[in-house]
Amino acid sequence: MGGFTQVIRNRFFSKDPFFLIFYVTARCNARCNFCYYWDNIVEWRSRKHLEVDEIEKITRKIQSLQQLTISGGEPFLREELAEICSMFIKNSNAQFVTIPTNGVLTKKIKSTLEKVLPAHPDVNFRIGLSTPEIGEKLDDLYGVKNAFEQHQESYRMMTSLRKKFPNLSMDAGIVYSSYNADHILDIVNYVLENMEGCNPIISAVRGKPRLAESKDISIDDLERTYSYVKKNVPKINNRAFANTMNLMRDMVHEITVKTMQGNQMVIPCKAGEKLLVVYDNGDIYPCELLEKPMGNIRDFDYDLNRVAKTQASQEIVKEIVDTKCHCTWECANNNNIVFSNKYSLSLASKLLKRQFHELVN
Ligand code: SF4
Ligand code: SF4
Repeated sequence: MGGFTQVIRNRFFSKDPFFLIFYVTARCNARCNFCYYWDNIVEWRSRKHLEVDEIEKITRKIQSLQQLTISGGEPFLREELAEICSMFIKNSNAQFVTIPTNGVLTKKIKSTLEKVLPAHPDVNFRIGLSTPEIGEKLDDLYGVKNAFEQHQESYRMMTSLRKKFPNLSMDAGIVYSSYNADHILDIVNYVLENMEGCNPIISAVRGKPRLAESKDISIDDLERTYSYVKKNVPKINNRAFANTMNLMRDMVHEITVKTMQGNQMVIPCKAGEKLLVVYDNGDIYPCELLEKPMGNIRDFDYDLNRVAKTQASQEIVKEIVDTKCHCTWECANNNNIVFSNKYSLSLASKLLKRQFHELVN
C-alpha cells in the first residue's frame, strides 16, 4: 500500500503517530548560534544513544508511519544511519523520510544515500540542506572551515544522485534569525539561481537557541518576507505531493504570523497524539518545545504506543488542548493542518482550484 491510500489510512485509521521525529545522535560538527538543541549537543558524549538493536525493537512496534524525520545533531554523523532508515521503512512502513543536514559531510551523505535510495525506490527521501547563510558567512556560522564549499559539493553530489534516483528530493532550509533577517532575500535568490531543484524553505528560529539574541526578529519583517516569497518565489515541483506540500507551506507561514501577532492558538495542536519526538537517548516528548517528558522508551519495552497511553502522557495531551498551546514550529503546524477539518478542507479546496486552473490554461 502506498501514496494517497496510505495517507488516508494513516490519517483516519492508524493508532500510530502520523509524524515521528527521531533523533539519531546529539553530536554535531557545527555550532550555529540559533541551534535549539545546543544543551544536548555539548553533552553528546555522556548521552547514551539508542543502539541499533533497540531502534529495531521500536520500529517493529509501529505498523504504519506517514512521515519520519530523522534528526540530530548532524544525523549523518550516525554511522548506522542507512540501517536505521531501512528498519523504519521495512518494519514501520515509513512512506516519507526527511533528513535535515548541515551539508558538510559530503562523503557520509553520499554513502548513506547510495545505500537507501536503491533499496527503497517507493519511499520518498527528502534532504533538508540547511542554508542559513551563503559563502564565508556559512563557514563563520557553523564554525567550520570551508563549510560552504563542502555544502555546495554535497548539493552537486545529490543533484547527480537525483538523476539516477527519482525518489530523492532536496530543499534548502533557511532558518530566519536575527543574523540573516536583513539579507534573507539574498539567500533565497542564491538558492533560486544556483541550487536548481531546491525549494528555499524559510522557518522562524524556535525554542531556546544557543544565543538568545538569535530570536530578536520583527514579526512585521518576517511577515513581509513570507509574503514576498509567496508572491515572487516559484514553487519547485520536486517530489511526490509537491503541490500539496507547497500549498501547506504557505498555510504554515500564515499560521506562524497569526500566532506571533496574536500570541494565541490559531490551529489546535496534535503534538503528543499524532506527532511524537524521540530523542537520541530514548526520551519521548510531545514536541521539541514543551519541556514535558512523556517517559523513556527503554522503560516501556520500546513501545511508543504504550508510552502515549500512560496517564502522565494523557495529562500532557489534555494540557496542550486545555491551554490552547500555540507556537510557530513548522513541523507541528504541518501535522496540525492534516488533522484540522477547517484547514484540511481549505487545503483540498485550494488544490482543486489549482488543478482546475491548470486544466483550463
Ligand atoms: S542547528 Fe543543526 S547544524 Fe547547527 S549546531 Fe544545531 S544541530 Fe548542528
Ligand atoms: S503548540 Fe507547539 S509547543 Fe505546544 S504542544 Fe504543539 S508543538 Fe508543542
